[in-house]
Amino acid sequence: MTGNGLSIKETTAKVIEEIRRVIPADRVLKDELMSAHTSFRIGGPADALVICSTEEELAAVLGICTSHPDAEHMLIGNGSNFLVSDDGYPGIMIKLGGDFDSISIVGDADDGDVMVRAGAAKFLSGVSAYLTEHGLSGMEFASGIPGSIGGAVFMNAGAYGGEMKDVVSSVRLMRPDGSEILEMSADEMDFGYRHSMVEESGLIVVSVLLKLSRDDPAEIVARVHELQERRNSKQPVNYPSAGSTFKRPVGGFAAALIDEAGLKGYRCGGAMVSEKHAGFVINAGGATAEDVLSVMRHVREKVYENSGIILEPEVRLINCKL
Ligand SMILES: Cc1cc2nc3c(=O)[nH]c(=O)nc-3n(C[C@H](O)[C@H](O)[C@H](O)COP(=O)(O)OP(=O)(O)OC[C@H]3O[C@@H](n4cnc5c(N)ncnc54)[C@H](O)[C@@H]3O)c2cc1C
Repeated sequence: MTGNGLSIKETTAKVIEEIRRVIPADRVLKDELMSAHTSFRIGGPADALVICSTEEELAAVLGICTSHPDAEHMLIGNGSNFLVSDDGYPGIMIKLGGDFDSISIVGDADDGDVMVRAGAAKFLSGVSAYLTEHGLSGMEFASGIPGSIGGAVFMNAGAYGGEMKDVVSSVRLMRPDGSEILEMSADEMDFGYRHSMVEESGLIVVSVLLKLSRDDPAEIVARVHELQERRNSKQPVNYPSAGSTFKRPVGGFAAALIDEAGLKGYRCGGAMVSEKHAGFVINAGGATAEDVLSVMRHVREKVYENSGIILEPEVRLINCKL
């Protein structure tokens, strides 16, 4: 029971009703299966998935959600780092679309670099295609990461020696209650390994200002292709997954530790440690969240026994735990 005498379920239903007054009904999806919104293709229903197309809509939805603190809500990007419980998510998932799916060149920096603003919902693949077309270099490392740029800022996503912090000049953010927009410099973002201050602050990434250098489009294409080939040859890209399941621990690599513990191919139900890349737990067919968690628990236990190192999940566990 919550402060207003309603159950959490009833409060959430009231929040959904209020949201339906500010967002068109076709973008308030009730009991939406999260398996349709995650790269793992796993997850039961959220009470509602709400798609916001403008900053005004986002501010209104956040205002409604935060005025009912008993009802849960959270942001989802492209769901490529999510494991959602088989029971689903008891609350409101907020997804960005419309105006947030944008990218444009906004000017030149003093040193000759070019400034580009990308909306938080823009996929990294789309950012990469735009930058290549305009002969802008710096984000080749991210071209094969299947996330949105908002999620990539949240995670300080990185690959092949590059990470978001190398190219972010500043970030436009909305306060968690939708009351204000802030522009924060890259220094203020406190970027670290798969981390930014967005995680603790609860701020919402609205758009990102990127600083990129000019280069020959053919050379950018060649670098993107080379990285894509390396990715395809090393990673189980044909199976649903959430990428690296565990964070890189201090003093080692998760994939090597899992491989050394003899766990490649270890399977529970439909979830399995990839034979191709031990750092990935894959959905080999019909996996449940519980299957994935069982694999993760076993991997943690065996790696600890074998190496004394405790692996921490990189994948975000939603309404479930190890
Ligand atoms: C096959 C595969 C390969 C991968 N390879 C890599 C890799 O090489 N390097 C790497 O770093 N990652 C990799 N990943 C993981 C994942 O793609 C990245 O972490 C990506 O940045 C997540 O972006 P997303 O939009 O999917 O975020 P989501 O998974 O949807 O969300 C991640 C977190 O960000 C938050 N969030 C999302 N959008 C916003 C926003 N606008 N404002 C505030 N918070 C927000 C969410 O609440 C959540 O906590 C891989 C995943 C897969 C499936």
